[in-house]
Formats: sequence, structure tokens, C-alpha cells
Amino acid sequence: MKPHQNLTMRVRFWGTRGSIATPGPGTNHFGGNTACIQLTTDSGQVLVLDCGTGMRPLGDHLLAERSGAISAAILLTHTHWDHIQGFPFFAPLFIPGNRLRVYGPQGANLSLHDALAGQMEHNYFPVQLDDVAAQIQYRDLEEGTYEIEGLRVRAQKMNHPTATLGYRFESGPRSLCYLTDHEPYFEEIWRDGAAAGQLESIRDAGDRRHAEFMQGAGVVIHEAQYTPEEYTAKRNWGHSTYVYAVRMAAAAGVARLILTHHDPSHDDAFLGRMESSAQELAAELKSPMQVTCAFEGCEVTV
Ligand SMILES: [Zn+2]
Ligand SMILES: [Zn+2]
Repeated sequence: MKPHQNLTMRVRFWGTRGSIATPGPGTNHFGGNTACIQLTTDSGQVLVLDCGTGMRPLGDHLLAERSGAISAAILLTHTHWDHIQGFPFFAPLFIPGNRLRVYGPQGANLSLHDALAGQMEHNYFPVQLDDVAAQIQYRDLEEGTYEIEGLRVRAQKMNHPTATLGYRFESGPRSLCYLTDHEPYFEEIWRDGAAAGQLESIRDAGDRRHAEFMQGAGVVIHEAQYTPEEYTAKRNWGHSTYVYAVRMAAAAGVARLILTHHDPSHDDAFLGRMESSAQELAAELKSPMQVTCAFEGCEVTV
């Protein structure tokens, strides 16, 4: 499908948690389901970004809201558990006539199909991937620009322990980035003596490229798993602090930043404080950017 001139993108969060689902009274507000976002265009196309446990209620929602067959694109950032575990519980999989197109980077040494089929192997799940009723197509992605469901989609590598892609969705002047499971390339962000807060002052070429990828975006959804204090013990696990996410997005001139992939140990009270700290940091940087933490059910229009 050719890119449309100017499609509105409606975003709804079905899963905001990283690593493992974290249900319970302490996570009622920000949510306990793992990564899953619904992106709907005003031409009616549905894109599902990541297949964490939030994909189960999304499947039920789609079945309740649509009378005919379901046709959707599914974009995976990577195949870690918290991004695929909802897939076997997505009810539209089991209904003939539904059509799904799955896109994502290859697993470490498996195709996208084989990485998804592995978690549904007999030892782990009663129904095999190739036996589900829906028609599914698979396409392994690399860095580059694609046309998916009428949107221009750019894919760029994240800094994570397995092949992981971040996405930038564009339609006319509208742009949305989904950047999760990414760790800073270098801990010191700004070059010595350079004016902090500017894209060109970012020390490491990888971090600069990361910031450039989100340059001028209307909405950026970025992971912020840790506080700076927590990060010290979790270096090389492939995740960012909220400080990194705010600094990168502010330098890139982003209008609205939504933090997600919340750590399982962060309850609602903790995330509320982290959200305030992130907003204070944006104000200190003299950035007009709006900063919030994603919560289950949160909706944004781009
Ligand atoms: Zn993750
Ligand atoms: Zn991951």
C-alpha cells in the first residue's frame, strides 16, 4: 500500500511493563501487562507494536469492536519474552479468515517465524504456530525504510543484547517513534566543553544517531526502565534511564515524550515520582516538551 498523504495515527497502550508481567494492587494505574501498543490510522488500518501480555486484551477488544474479518500488521521490536508472550493468547489467531502480517528483525539465529514458533512448541504451548486458523505472513526487517499499512516506516537498530529495531512512523507532517529496549552507547552524553542539550554536542556517534532518529517527532514513546542509581548495577542489560530518554528527546526537539517499559519493581507510587522527576528535568533543560509515563489504556493522537 502506498503511503497516504496525511493519516492521523491513534495510539493506545495495552501493555507498559518491561521484562515480566506485574499484576497486583501496586500497579493498577500504570499497568502490569508487558509491551503492546495499538496504532490505528484514520483509514482504519491497525498496527500492533510488540506482542507482550497486553496483546491478549487487545485481541478481545478487536473482536468486540469489528464485525468482519480482522486484518492487522504486527511489528515486533525484537523477540525477547516481554515482547512476544501475548502472541499465543491473541484470540484473532484462532479465527479463519483473519489475516496478520508479522514484521520484525530476525531472532539471534532464528527467522522471525521460527522465534515465534519456538515459544509455541509442544513443551510450552498446546497449539503449534503453523496450526492456527488465521493466515499469517512473515517478513524479516533490517534497518531501512518501508511502506506498511499506508505509513512510511523507518527502522533503526537499538543498542540491546539481541537484534532490536526502533521504528519511526510518518504520514505527511505527522511522526511517531517507538524506541524501546535500548541502552546508551556511552554514559557521558555531552562532549567536553560543548554546549549541553544540543544534538551536535552528543559525544558518541551511536547516541547522536539515536537522537537524530527522533528529531522533530510529534510523539516519541521511549523506554525508561531505570533511575540513574539503578542503572549502575544493570549496565549492559540493554535499557535506559529516564534521564537519558529526556535528554535525547529534548535535544532532538521532540514535542511529546511518553516513557514506557516500566521496571517490574516500580509500583505506581514510584512511577509517579519518576514522572515528576522527568518533567522537572525537561524544565531544567528549558525544553517545552511534554513528558508523561505511559499507563494501560492511555491514548494519544498523532
Ligand atoms: Zn523488553
Ligand atoms: Zn529486550
